[in-house]
Amino acid sequence: MARYIFITGGVVSSLGKGLASAALGALLQARGYSVRLRKLDPYLNVDPGTMSPFEHGEVFVTDDGAETDLDLGHYERFTGVAARNSDSISSGRVYSTVLEKERRGDYLGKTIQVIPHVTNEIKDFIKIGDDEVDFMLCEIGGTVGDIEGLPFFEAIRQFAHERPRGECLFMHLTLLPYLAASGELKTKPTQHSVKELQSIGIAPDILVCRSEHEIPEKEREKLALFCNVRKESVIAAYDLKSIYEAPLAYHEQGLDQAVLDAFGITPAPKPKLHVWEDVKDRVNNPEGEVKIAIVGKYTQLEDAYKSINEALTHGGMKNRVKVRIEWVDAEIFDREDAAPHLEGYHAILVPGGFGERGTEGKIKAAQFAREHKIPYLGICLGMQMAVIEAARNLAGIETAGSEEFDHEAGKKRFEPVVYHLKEWVQGNHKVKRREGDDKGGTMRLGAYNATLNEGSKVAEVYGSTSIEERHRHRYEVDIKYREELEKQGLIFSGMSPDGKLPEIVEVKDHPWFIGVQFHPELKSKPFAPHPLFADFVRAAKDVSRLV
Ligand code: GLN
Repeated sequence: MARYIFITGGVVSSLGKGLASAALGALLQARGYSVRLRKLDPYLNVDPGTMSPFEHGEVFVTDDGAETDLDLGHYERFTGVAARNSDSISSGRVYSTVLEKERRGDYLGKTIQVIPHVTNEIKDFIKIGDDEVDFMLCEIGGTVGDIEGLPFFEAIRQFAHERPRGECLFMHLTLLPYLAASGELKTKPTQHSVKELQSIGIAPDILVCRSEHEIPEKEREKLALFCNVRKESVIAAYDLKSIYEAPLAYHEQGLDQAVLDAFGITPAPKPKLHVWEDVKDRVNNPEGEVKIAIVGKYTQLEDAYKSINEALTHGGMKNRVKVRIEWVDAEIFDREDAAPHLEGYHAILVPGGFGERGTEGKIKAAQFAREHKIPYLGICLGMQMAVIEAARNLAGIETAGSEEFDHEAGKKRFEPVVYHLKEWVQGNHKVKRREGDDKGGTMRLGAYNATLNEGSKVAEVYGSTSIEERHRHRYEVDIKYREELEKQGLIFSGMSPDGKLPEIVEVKDHPWFIGVQFHPELKSKPFAPHPLFADFVRAAKDVSRLV
């Protein structure tokens, strides 16, 4: 049976609860324990799948096809434990399950209420698979006091109350604001936030305090006294140059020790931190720099491409270079020539996306990279754009386009080299979709295998001809153009095992031009950079050496 750590936040949002949870997970692993991390999100969407990246940042897809919060990406990147559908739950999902049960008559005529029906549902969720790991870390989204969050806080309170003593721990993250005029760090907001928690029956065991300044001993003592935690359990979280320093930084502040002490685990196993020492060294001591342009639509919000950003950083760590990422708004090329905006980059990446806006610009970016022999990585929509570009400019199919854009516009304008996929094979069964299906959870989602051509660039990069990668798309490159495009040098070098769905394309006679229908960025880790990103950055490094 697992021990539980509940992570809550107060004072302000965006304090880095996800990162603190992930770093703690990594530290417990370094002590030899197995962990799983979970996110409980109070919003009413069933999952973030239908939310705009502007709203919520990236949607992180799991192997088992769930569309989840981007914090699950942090968890995976720090612990290497593949997240599952059962690691992410929202109020929307809880309520829809409760309502389904009510309609089925499962509650035998009872009045359905937040307590106990909604809280029971949350508690059942928290427990899934708890016999598999030593520690289950559950992060509650939002901040204490949010109306939507109340059922979750109530559920974790009950949960801890019902378990044997010493099996659950509460860790609360807050901010210590700094008043420059008096040169002081203020503890009052944290005191209030802890009071708020205590008023709903939760007493934190560990306080993690974000601060831009060193926390003096006096303030630590004050926090311990007023918030009713041990002084050693007041953990400072200072700003870091890189998020990948977080495990070591938290270890130095004593977080993992405080957690093990609170559980009464003595003597605590010694931590093995060499992996994180190596990661820190690589991220802080690059030997060069490469400049990579990401030509996309959601360029104002970095979180929209969180995993790509991180995967490029990992690729840089592998090659010991700093990756300078510049975001280029694809819509600029709708009006202007791409060349002046793309010259000077060592590589170009076109990420995933939805809808027609900006796509002509992405097609121009793919053309620029192909013609100027600049390394190009096209991910999902970025692969589809590369195929459309080759169809138009190499195979002479002038009106080549994607059905996605015709559907959106409500009229037929394009020859659909990318079409709406309505039937495919998953494992040993057929999945079917229709026009006008619900938008939520109906894409081709999660892990699928692909078979790579022997001798292809990608087979060399992966060091294998059989791979498994995560997908999230509704449209697919039409295999019927394969022969024509291959004749022109666009090789379909990776296919679904049944040979029907193009998974990877690459340009022959080009130093590095690869488009993938899946999302390799989701599986990259700082201690195990994804081979495509590692080799893409290597190719960019080669270009940087030439100029
Ligand atoms: N919009 C495209 C599709 O649905 C690409 C999706 C993506 O890039 N994730 O196929």
